[in-house]
Amino acid sequence: MADDEARTATKESADAKQQEPAGGQTGTDQETGDTVTEKQALHEGGTGDGQVTPEAPGSTPAGERAEISNFEIVNHYFNRAAERIGLRDDVAAVLRSAYREVQVQIPVTRTDDRIHVYTGYRVQHNGARGPYKGGVRFHPEVDLDEVRALASLMTWKTAIAGIPYGGAKGGVNCPADELEAHEKEKVARSFMSKIDKVLGPTRDIPAPDVGTNAQTMAWMMDEYGKLHGHTPAIVTGKPISLEGSYGREAATGRGLVYMYREAAAALGIRPSESRFTVQGFGNVGSWASRIMQELGAKLVAASDAFGAVRSDEGLDAEALASHVADGGRLRDFEGGEEISAVELLETECEVFIPAALGGMIHKSNAERLRCKLVVEGANSPTTPAADEILEDRGVFVVPDVMANAGGVVVSYFEWAQNLQHFRWEEREVNEKLGRIMRRAYREVAARAEKDEVPFRLAAYEVGIERVADAARTRGYIS
Ligand code: NAD
Repeated sequence: MADDEARTATKESADAKQQEPAGGQTGTDQETGDTVTEKQALHEGGTGDGQVTPEAPGSTPAGERAEISNFEIVNHYFNRAAERIGLRDDVAAVLRSAYREVQVQIPVTRTDDRIHVYTGYRVQHNGARGPYKGGVRFHPEVDLDEVRALASLMTWKTAIAGIPYGGAKGGVNCPADELEAHEKEKVARSFMSKIDKVLGPTRDIPAPDVGTNAQTMAWMMDEYGKLHGHTPAIVTGKPISLEGSYGREAATGRGLVYMYREAAAALGIRPSESRFTVQGFGNVGSWASRIMQELGAKLVAASDAFGAVRSDEGLDAEALASHVADGGRLRDFEGGEEISAVELLETECEVFIPAALGGMIHKSNAERLRCKLVVEGANSPTTPAADEILEDRGVFVVPDVMANAGGVVVSYFEWAQNLQHFRWEEREVNEKLGRIMRRAYREVAARAEKDEVPFRLAAYEVGIERVADAARTRGYIS
């Protein structure tokens, strides 16, 4: 499909400015040449105003994901925080909705000689504080609603971490687990060649997420380079050989551990004596496990999409990561016994780290967690109903919007290094990451204490205020 045709499938809500004020216009985007439709304060999909469709009790089996939409989850917290800080309704409508939404067709001829047509999305939620920033997910369940939610979450996350970015997210609904490497490469290149005009090192900078990695970013950077010349700062999370940053691959997991250490101190838990469980032993989960283990903490159970494993004596996180990297299944790991997804939730531990997908902790299973603390590595792993159950049970939650910011923080470092063409040592990267994560924790903790609200609400309050302040100062909103 030619570029222009692909772009007729583009749905945008923008004018030519970086972030528009309330109200909207119809016309032609000055930079992309795309047709621009009137900005909609509310979107189709989800309830738009953030009213969460109540979860029926027992509607989701304990071992499965809730069917609540991620967009509803994020807007639920946004609305509660916006109300608490007295944000005007019209301003809330601007900040709740996305600035630009691009949808493209990705036809790929696979080894079966058939053309498989996937859909790619890039949603730029808010750019008041800096260029749009957010990962790209390759997963069959990717849809516009999910990408919107994740883009919005990025806006608040970058603001809470205090790094100079807005929020965006992208995704392609391809079956990443089934694709051969050359098929994945085709998807990555095709996606980049169709969204390149809304990207740029000062405009929007993608990174890896579920189903994508440093290799995917290398293909995307290379494709962008063919169109615009060599531009390493166009994506982050690149391989070290292509101006990636030391420490980026482990950054989200490392950031979680910095957050854990702060929370553990507040709750009187000794990290060296603690037990932890990881749901989703992928990039984030496996790195968090390895770094937790360095502190002396014991990994007692871990899962992935194919099964779960437990050992009361502790699983060797390094060995488990090597086993998976060599193509082994987690459940076949010799150092532990196979358990079900529900048994994983019921494993007694001090800290539970959800690091798989959204909606994994819900009304039907939140009662089963046997931990004191949840540190959210995944985005939107806990539904609002589950959040209330955990609060009632006295389980302390360090929410996604601050806990998993380590990845975007080191992406920021990578981007800064790329713009300077100067590489930092890994130790410098990790130290700077620690400073930013600790600062974010303490700022949110102070807000939570002052307002007597849970961390999640306090974090949203801090993030929304910072974004609203930047938007107001620029003159986007009054
Ligand atoms: P990944 O693809 O490397 O790992 C995801 C893991 O979850 C895999 O092991 C997969 O098998 C497992 N999984 C999938 N479905 C599962 C299920 N039903 N039960 C148990 N495990 C399941 O992805 P990742 O980059 O580690 O991302 C994980 C989460 O962290 C996502 O929610 C992502 O948005 C979030 N996140 C990632 C980053 C990052 O830097 N990679 C940054 C912030 C947030």
